[in-house]
Amino acid sequence: MSLAEKLREEIERRGPLSVADYMAAALGDEQYGYYMHSDPLGLSGDFVTSPEISQIFGELVGIWCAETWHNLNSPECDLVELGPGRGTLMKDLLRATSHVSGFHDAVTVNLVEMSPTLSAVQRETLTDAHPRIRWHEALPETGRPLLVVANEFFDALPIRQFTTTETGFTERLIGWDRKQGFHFKPGPELTELPGDYPDIPAGTLPEGATLEICPLAQRIMLDIAVHIKTHGGAMLAIDYGYTRPQGVPVFASGDTLQAVRRHKFHEVLQEPGKADITAHVDFSVLAEIARAVGAEASETITQREFLMHMGGRIRMEQLCKNASSTEQQKQLMDGYGRLVALDGMGELFKLLAVTQPGFKPPVF
Ligand code: SAH
Repeated sequence: MSLAEKLREEIERRGPLSVADYMAAALGDEQYGYYMHSDPLGLSGDFVTSPEISQIFGELVGIWCAETWHNLNSPECDLVELGPGRGTLMKDLLRATSHVSGFHDAVTVNLVEMSPTLSAVQRETLTDAHPRIRWHEALPETGRPLLVVANEFFDALPIRQFTTTETGFTERLIGWDRKQGFHFKPGPELTELPGDYPDIPAGTLPEGATLEICPLAQRIMLDIAVHIKTHGGAMLAIDYGYTRPQGVPVFASGDTLQAVRRHKFHEVLQEPGKADITAHVDFSVLAEIARAVGAEASETITQREFLMHMGGRIRMEQLCKNASSTEQQKQLMDGYGRLVALDGMGELFKLLAVTQPGFKPPVF
């Protein structure tokens, strides 16, 4: 059996799926989900992330965490990474902070990972990196301050999509039939959006606009913000996504759902479980949720701004000086150049900081 067959049977039995059900199965189905049975990262996989491109990324995120921890008065706390992939960011973060006095002693490292395959890779990458590393399937509840980092985690969480109609909304669903295979189809007419989504007065949006909601991202953000408000700490979320101008309740950006396989775009509805599926992150909603429970949320900044302010260029020059060949120097320069590229990752990727009230995070 394949995931396509499993989903087809489910549709025949229970009717069309929401985009979120499809995405959750394509990425996280225990047997066939994309992340569950493969290591998709890196040159030989399907896509590359910032920590896999240059060690400077994880190092500077590490320095940010250590400085934040220091400014929080050096508490005993939980360092948490959501969706750690191969463990590369955490490895670079821990190496870069190993000489920060007291930091490694004060933190317990917690990795939140749903994939057994990637957890195994992380265990290998992080052998001897820290004496206290724990794995969890969901955010651990410990009652201590949190330092949370998440790179390309929120974009992997399942979204629901809605289209505006003359009188309200329809959910975009996924059906299957013999002629068309998997295909998108509109669900029943709704007068309002389900769940905790802002009221959108009728007529505010043009007909046919697509709205995206990520209920799981909202729940995770809520849990973290409540924890940070109550017990202290900070979070750094890094992802590609958007912010909305103030007062605009929803960003009708159109459809941001995309699939990637072997570094190329792939049809979202083709071969579920065989390609990565992501959607752009609505940073405004995450910030609003954090503020609503009394935590503080920053304005977003770009990855380029963050890395440049954190001294990325100096670190790159230092690494180049110690490089063993001109080939290695070129690799270091190319890698850093990609992370800060104006027409690429440097501008596409944004950072949001969420902190305990009254705390100003470094750089933001
Ligand atoms: N942060 C890494 C990997 C990004 S890929 C990097 O930058 O290289 C997304 C990661 O999130 C993978 O490790 C994937 O297994 C994990 N993930 C996706 N959905 C998850 C969920 N619902 N719960 C926990 N981990 C999840």
